[in-house]
Amino acid sequence: MFAACFIEIRSFPTGEFMGFSHRSVPASLRELLQPGRGPDDASLEAAPQQVTAAPSRRTAFKPKDRITGMIVGCAVGDALGMPVEGVETRLTLHALNRLGGIRDFLAPQPHVIRTLRRLRPGCWTDDTQLTLAVARAMTRAGGMSYDAIADAHIEAFETLELRGWDTTTKQACRRLAQGTPRQRSGKLGGSGNGVAMKISPVAAWSFMRKESREQLLNHCVAIGAMTHYDPRAVVGAYLIALQIRDALASPRRWEPAPERYSELIEEAAWAEAQLVQTLGASDDPISQNLREVEDGIGEAPLELAELCNGATSYVCNSVTYVTALLCSAPWEFEDGIIAAVNGGGDTDTNGSMVGAVLGAAYGVRKLPRRFVDKVEESEMIRDLGSRFADMLTV
Ligand SMILES: [Mg+2]
Repeated sequence: MFAACFIEIRSFPTGEFMGFSHRSVPASLRELLQPGRGPDDASLEAAPQQVTAAPSRRTAFKPKDRITGMIVGCAVGDALGMPVEGVETRLTLHALNRLGGIRDFLAPQPHVIRTLRRLRPGCWTDDTQLTLAVARAMTRAGGMSYDAIADAHIEAFETLELRGWDTTTKQACRRLAQGTPRQRSGKLGGSGNGVAMKISPVAAWSFMRKESREQLLNHCVAIGAMTHYDPRAVVGAYLIALQIRDALASPRRWEPAPERYSELIEEAAWAEAQLVQTLGASDDPISQNLREVEDGIGEAPLELAELCNGATSYVCNSVTYVTALLCSAPWEFEDGIIAAVNGGGDTDTNGSMVGAVLGAAYGVRKLPRRFVDKVEESEMIRDLGSRFADMLTV
């Protein structure tokens, strides 16, 4: 029903979504999905609700340290989860059991997906490839540019070794490369976690600009629609972005407030309501998935993963798992990423999202050297993180 609904949305002539006239669609979201009108110059609504507090001097907030930590954290979590990423949860859990859990960078295990089999310990995958592509595009453009981010997707697709890329993203990049406007290149019903996994640079931009939640959601819509034309993928990215902003606002530790999980459920429901007239409504909204897991907050990672249907790459499983895990404890960086990847499911993406949040909370100087120094192309990642942070603070 959901897929059919989307086919119908896309069959409407330009200017109409879900049978609603332009007049009834919120202006900012309408413009984001309009071919020929770039959201870069769209006037974004700026309702001043729930803006993350700006850092104060007392917290000694050092943008370069935090933002580099966010990008390095993404790569470290990705590389820790890489060895057991597979298509079958059962085989992943079996491999984790056989290994006695993952605590360090390891070589790919026998069941791992084909495109990762030749990687060395410490190598990262699509999650980091596309996070770096987004950060690099924004750095080159000197700010938020959806066109630059779309071009970066094409460049990554055409030049990189495609490590664990999902079909949805590959097909969307192919459409972008063939000239399909980025507002229409995303897959209808693309409900993977492919937007959430690369959203951290966008969240950092939003935090540094003290943007409203409407503005942040608009970014998630514009970037989400390039590859995943689906409200679940976009709301999943929005939830991860909110937690990145929480982390950047934190006084150099991760200590979620007890009520934060409930607030994030409300944020998801709010975002879903905003998207009904543009991306449509899902019959399996992520807010509902979050609610179903709420009683499990504080449980061990494996129990949380089980409550989240194995924490697989379906965004409602993966982002719900990561959100529940992050809200369950005041995690140290190492403990948090180890917990994330040992829950099974989409281990590398779950690890990369938790790594980005905790890396943003602690900053690169507080991350364990044994991970930071050994992760693939560590120097290049730190350099990009540093240049990206410089761009954000100009
Ligand atoms: Mg991956």
